[in-house]
Amino acid sequence: MEFATKCLHAGYQPKNGEAGALPIYQSTTFKYDSTEQVAKLFDLQAAGFFYSRLANPTVDAVEQKIAALEGGVGAICTSSGQAAWMVALLNICQSGDHIVACTNLYGGTINLIAVTLKRFGIEVSFIDETKSNEELSSYFKPNTKALVAETISNPCTKVLDIERIAKLAHDNGVPLLVDNTFATPYLCRPIEFGADIVVHSTTKYMDGHALGLGGAIVDSGNFDWAAHKDKFAEFSEPDASYHGSVYTEAFGKAAYIVKARVQLIRDLGCLQSPQNAFYVNQGLETLPLRMDRHSANALKVAEFLSNHPKVEQVFYPLLANSSELALANKYLPKGASGVLSFKLKGTKDDCSQFVDKLDLINVKVHVADIKTIVLHPASSSHRQLTDEQLAQAGISPNLIRLSVGLEDVNDIIADLSSALA
Ligand code: PLP
Repeated sequence: MEFATKCLHAGYQPKNGEAGALPIYQSTTFKYDSTEQVAKLFDLQAAGFFYSRLANPTVDAVEQKIAALEGGVGAICTSSGQAAWMVALLNICQSGDHIVACTNLYGGTINLIAVTLKRFGIEVSFIDETKSNEELSSYFKPNTKALVAETISNPCTKVLDIERIAKLAHDNGVPLLVDNTFATPYLCRPIEFGADIVVHSTTKYMDGHALGLGGAIVDSGNFDWAAHKDKFAEFSEPDASYHGSVYTEAFGKAAYIVKARVQLIRDLGCLQSPQNAFYVNQGLETLPLRMDRHSANALKVAEFLSNHPKVEQVFYPLLANSSELALANKYLPKGASGVLSFKLKGTKDDCSQFVDKLDLINVKVHVADIKTIVLHPASSSHRQLTDEQLAQAGISPNLIRLSVGLEDVNDIIADLSSALA
């Protein structure tokens, strides 16, 4: 199936007489005829649903669809994008370990890694990924377990050179984990360029309509955990909590995603709800149409802003004068999503005034919505970062983030134009 067809048909193909739309299995439990059948499920000797904390048929269908769209061997839908990152990292890191992360990350991901995981005993080194691989290799240590990056960074829209950064990770014996929230698998599939694990906030374009919180983790199946036994022993040693199952032996290429579910989703309890998975599925059905229109509108808005005398600088990867253009042409040939940011010529207060004068465009702590929304990161999403971290993430007091929606682009530009005036 081609991508647009998978968006509609992957994950759920109703049989004769079954519901045409994906049913919401609003049930915590599933019925079995014998204890023996249930025992097999608990021992991981049979696949099936028994409790919606671990798996649920509605969520499962959406997981299969997302795995198909990203080109992975399996996926897990989580209760939020934050939960997806937490599970994705804790599946390979524990106290005493170390993560290498790019500085251009969403503020919440930085906080999760730099503050919360630090409390768990996991250290992090932030890197400027534009430096050479030789230089960046010096950050990797024997206890480094992961390299973390974003396809299109939030909010400065830097484009990751996935192939080069995947090589950096692999040369240092660790997997590359990429947040593909803004690009979505329609605009870029990081696994095709060497990423090992892909993480999403489905709250954004996948849902697309700002209805439900959610996240996803996709396993490419390509990282050879057994070949890196010294670093990732948990994949190749018997798991006492499952009668000695060895993940790489029992589940082969799906070792990572199965382990994440049966250990962490089980213990941390952050699977996506069936209702929210239903919303994600609804959004995925129209993903290609929406991403084309988001990208086309954003490019026109970026061009308008970059020609405006009150605008200092516009960050949009596919703008003709963007520093990211070469990477965008390689990784985002179909479009660069609806997210852009720009610096107003003026102070933090001028930015607040401008935002308050917008009428059609609302202030919301969100991005990647069907409607155009605006945010001033320094006073909202990134306010927990120190000045140094803000500067590292390229966020200045006069930076404004715009998430261009699906309205007629002339109405969006008219609103921006009047607020700027
Ligand atoms: N990753 C990116 C790129 C994000 O923009 C966000 C949230 O804005 C997250 C992850 C976290 O997702 P959630 O808000 O669904 O927890």
